[in-house]
Amino acid sequence: MSAVAEQTRLADRINALEESSTLAMTKMARELAAQGHKVISLSVGEPDFKTPAHICEAAKKAIDDGFHGYSPVAGYPDLRKAIADKLKRDNNIDWKPENIVVSTGAKHSLANVIQVLVNPGDEVVIFAPYWVSYSEMVKLAEGKSVIIDGAFENDFKVTAAQLEAAITPRTKVVMYASPNNPTGAVYSEKELREIAAVLEKHEGVYVLADEIYEYINFTEEGHFSIGSIPALKDRVITVNGVAKGYAMTGWRIGFIAAAKWIADGVEKLQGQVTSGTNSIAQKAATAAFNGPKEPSIEMAKAYHRRRDLVVGLLKDIEGFKVNVPQGAFYAFPDVSYYFGKSDGETVIKDSDDFSNWLLNKSYVSTVAGSGFGAPNCIRISTAAADEALEEAVKRIKEAVATLK
Ligand code: PMP
Ligand code: GLU
Repeated sequence: MSAVAEQTRLADRINALEESSTLAMTKMARELAAQGHKVISLSVGEPDFKTPAHICEAAKKAIDDGFHGYSPVAGYPDLRKAIADKLKRDNNIDWKPENIVVSTGAKHSLANVIQVLVNPGDEVVIFAPYWVSYSEMVKLAEGKSVIIDGAFENDFKVTAAQLEAAITPRTKVVMYASPNNPTGAVYSEKELREIAAVLEKHEGVYVLADEIYEYINFTEEGHFSIGSIPALKDRVITVNGVAKGYAMTGWRIGFIAAAKWIADGVEKLQGQVTSGTNSIAQKAATAAFNGPKEPSIEMAKAYHRRRDLVVGLLKDIEGFKVNVPQGAFYAFPDVSYYFGKSDGETVIKDSDDFSNWLLNKSYVSTVAGSGFGAPNCIRISTAAADEALEEAVKRIKEAVATLK
């Protein structure tokens, strides 16, 4: 069968789905590196640190102790208890272990919640710029994404007034990440309380708060969880995990904390699709949540320093408009100054062209802003060694100097 004919046999929902641009760029970068090119890969958002030793030891012990069988669908009781303790300690959120469901990464947790809450035609308000998978998860549930743009001038953050204007009788979920991927923006307690005041008025609306970058926050005020506001508690689904804060992307542990009926819905879905997540990784995650915070604090300090390094260097590039990320590990410059320009061979029309051109010309992999709902920008991960970051920005600066 020809490739075209085969494609049409895929289910419509898969044909309609966009490929994850973060993962697609990362795959392309790997392929170029395998061909022998000196690629600097700043496309995937992933800590360049190793998982702390005490967490690895807990995983080894779990193997030796015989945790080789299926785990309970919602996660081992000691992990759910560790997460409940963490939420109380760090986030001022008071949920019992029965309100927590552990899944295969925060990505899986988010996808589960969307499947569990969104009916066809329901509206999901997404604060843009947003992480690439949000809109596609909504599409898979046959929901309708309603995108609200955070203005560059407001550090890419959406305001309560914008949210108020976007809510309709069909709104089911509002979702956002703070600290944000791709912009690094952090919503302050004041901003989240203003947003919460709007949501309080709309009883049928649920809030999906993605806090996966919680521990990578450079503000003095620190992290604030909207789920800690009593009036909204039953309507907030807090999502987090171990990937970013503990440098555990490959271990694949995420969780939700939510009202019991939502947690039960997620458990039911998971029971038919994936079952309980990896037993060894759960034991490692238990050690992470119960263990010392110092490794996460040290890593966050490194990301902060690199933020300063990269933002400083990017600001020096002609035409780049750069915000100062307050968390996470990305820089998100607006590069639209170069749209319509050419190096004599390639015309750069948009951020996809820019990002592809940069990879093929300078072997620096980034991700186009288009997939994040911000078509003027590109995303550069700052989770890499200082020398790699310096070399990458040097290559970018030299490359754009050829655009006329
Ligand atoms: N939310 C955001 C905003 C992310 O950037 C990511 C990617 N790490 C995730 C969720 C998913 O994290 P995990 O690796 O735990 O699936
Ligand atoms: N969240 C990371 C990123 O944005 C990992 C890749 C992904 O799952 O999209 O790059």
